[in-house]
Amino acid sequence: MVDSPTPPWDPAALAAADHAHCWHPFTPMGEWMEDDPLILVGGEGCWLVDARGNRYLDANSSIWTNVHGHGHPRITEAIRDQAATLDHASFLGTTNPWAINLAEKLAALMPALPRVFFTDDGSTAVECALKMSIQARQLMGEAGRSRFVAFDRAYHGDTMGASSLGGVSTFFERFRGFGFQPIRCSSVEDLRQLDAGTIASLNAVVIEPLIQGVNRMHLWPPGMLTDLRAWCDEHAVWLVLDEVMTGFGRTGRMFACQHEEVVPDFLCLAKGLTGGTVPLAATLTSGKVFSAFLDDGTGDRTFYYGHSYCGNPIGCAAALASLEVFEKERVLDGLAAKIEHFSKVLEQVRWSCAPHVGAVRQLGLMAGIDLVQADGSTYPPAARMGQVACRAMREAGVLTRPILDTIVLMPPLAISREEINHLARGVRAGIHAATAGVGKV
Ligand SMILES: *Cc1c(COP(=O)(O)O)cnc(C)c1O
Repeated sequence: MVDSPTPPWDPAALAAADHAHCWHPFTPMGEWMEDDPLILVGGEGCWLVDARGNRYLDANSSIWTNVHGHGHPRITEAIRDQAATLDHASFLGTTNPWAINLAEKLAALMPALPRVFFTDDGSTAVECALKMSIQARQLMGEAGRSRFVAFDRAYHGDTMGASSLGGVSTFFERFRGFGFQPIRCSSVEDLRQLDAGTIASLNAVVIEPLIQGVNRMHLWPPGMLTDLRAWCDEHAVWLVLDEVMTGFGRTGRMFACQHEEVVPDFLCLAKGLTGGTVPLAATLTSGKVFSAFLDDGTGDRTFYYGHSYCGNPIGCAAALASLEVFEKERVLDGLAAKIEHFSKVLEQVRWSCAPHVGAVRQLGLMAGIDLVQADGSTYPPAARMGQVACRAMREAGVLTRPILDTIVLMPPLAISREEINHLARGVRAGIHAATAGVGKV
């Protein structure tokens, strides 16, 4: 028997130990230590269970990761078997069947990008694409093409390179001077305004296709990705798609770029890759980029980049199992009906919570609901209405996090019609409770 935590849980003792030793991401810790923490001890399908036995619908897929529900038997079994067979072995100069098989499967999903580099999470998938593209340009004799274009209010992760691309000021302003400076734009039109010299200095454009998650679920206009691809082609600039959030069915297709039949030069995948069970990421690229790294007798062309857990067999086995679930359960085929129902309940939330709901943005099974004051203006930031509403939703058995005053909903693809209804009831209850009796603040 292993000496790891087991029930019965002692929430007070766990809270005290957490407050003494844990440091949580994106969390104001002073406030955290004043509060009673939500201690999650179990996951079953789309539900999470806390130490007191309360159940919550996982309305943001455990920060955008979970795909097939928690504890899916096929994935659980794959992880268990893999841990017993080969837990980890280095991918530096050796290989393993699970990583090989997964690379093959990912390449089959995106045939134009048959070369797969494994990393650990979204940030490192983006970091890898940046370094790969920098070195590829050097190897191709295009070292002058060294600059990146990133979009306003983008989010590409928190490592220094990836966060240099970030444009959400709350997160990145503090670190602005420490990374590199991308060229920042807000539309394809902005790119068209760049002078020839700047364009000639560009390596790649990096974008979250179709929808920017952290930017409060901002939707790009339809056709934008197509226009961007065309502009990149015209100027021999590479296109890096960050599908860390949008990959693996969230938009209704396997990848967001498939909605516009756009093929990038680099594709970054993470969050949903393992079905949201264990960390694993991948950066896919073309044969053309890869071949620049092959020895041609002119010197060392090695890509000196990697992480300890690259190609981790447990992660790869989990990802293979997740892809198998996509196939066996025909997950993508079932999405259209769920997305339509999700749209319908979002519309109900909008009218039943009027006038406190402003815009509602939806793509696939992702949505952002803006909370506004009765006169349509935004709440003062100090009211922290998004936070208050999500706390009230928690009481109603729905768990998610806001981004400012936008409630983010992104349930697992496995969510049922009844669970979508529960989600909507919880969201309505939360918004009503938070905004009840609140006039103009
Ligand atoms: C979450 C996210 C990342 C960063 O991924 P991590 O796994 O948190 O490092 C990068 N890009 C996008 C679009 C994301 O949503």
